[in-house]
Amino acid sequence: MKTVYGISELRVIVDEQKKQGRTIGFVPTMGALHSGHISLIEKCVSGNDFNIVSIFVNPTQFGPNEDFNKYPRTLDADIKICEKAGVDVVFAPNASEMYADTKEATLVCPPYSLVDKLCGKSRVGHFDGVATVVAKLFNITGCKRAYFGEKDAQQLFVIKKMVQDLNFDVEIVSCPIVREPDGLAMSSRNTYLTPEGRTRALKIYKALLCVKKLYEQGENEVKALRDAALSVLDGLDVEYFDVYDLNSFEETDRIVSTAVALCAIKIHQGKGYDVRLIDNIRL
Ligand code: AMP
Repeated sequence: MKTVYGISELRVIVDEQKKQGRTIGFVPTMGALHSGHISLIEKCVSGNDFNIVSIFVNPTQFGPNEDFNKYPRTLDADIKICEKAGVDVVFAPNASEMYADTKEATLVCPPYSLVDKLCGKSRVGHFDGVATVVAKLFNITGCKRAYFGEKDAQQLFVIKKMVQDLNFDVEIVSCPIVREPDGLAMSSRNTYLTPEGRTRALKIYKALLCVKKLYEQGENEVKALRDAALSVLDGLDVEYFDVYDLNSFEETDRIVSTAVALCAIKIHQGKGYDVRLIDNIRL
């Protein structure tokens, strides 16, 4: 396995692989790899001839008051994990390699109707940063298939829409959420949780399971489902708890076909130690 830091070096490798007729699989990440990432990587490795994982904490998807500086960076451990999983190349550029023109660069901006809700509402500009960096990484890696987690449901929808609208020849493969044994969705940000904060965070999956159970028992009015979730989440700072139709990715009042319950919760742990967690469950 090779670790590559430069775009032109990666292009040489990719061109050679393509000449040999190999399909390229790609997993974009921000590193601090955990079992959730590994599930994507393993799926990628088993489905493609040549596999690339990017590790890049993308500054343009963080707001000014977000955790870009303290985001966990564990490149050496990440490289070992990728090697063990059978990855061919880890692409780990720095910000100046990815954003050579610091003054003004072209952006990929998803439609406003897709980003003025859920995470995009509080993280203004976040999905412009995500779509732009993913478009760049698709072009740099020349991938035929790319793997994304369902944990970031809105991101997955945004990327699928971008691929369709901009005619990227890339198949987007969605992968189920991987959880800790006690139900907490795996996230690089879980490392910020104190033991006490982590215990409180377990209410998130409990609330999602409660909604799923009620739905399975025949409740399809979203108000009733949300009220039940909010009572489980009592005491936590709920940024949103919504139910979306999965096909349209629009909010719904009454579930008629496949839906997903999504939430963002802030765990307050004292000054400067708030952790924002997202999670969702298919209904
Ligand atoms: P990140 O490094 O947080 O940008 O995540 C990189 C990719 O891993 C994204 O497609 C995420 O949706 C996915 N991912 C993160 N956590 C999980 C998880 N617990 N289960 C499945 N996929 C995940």
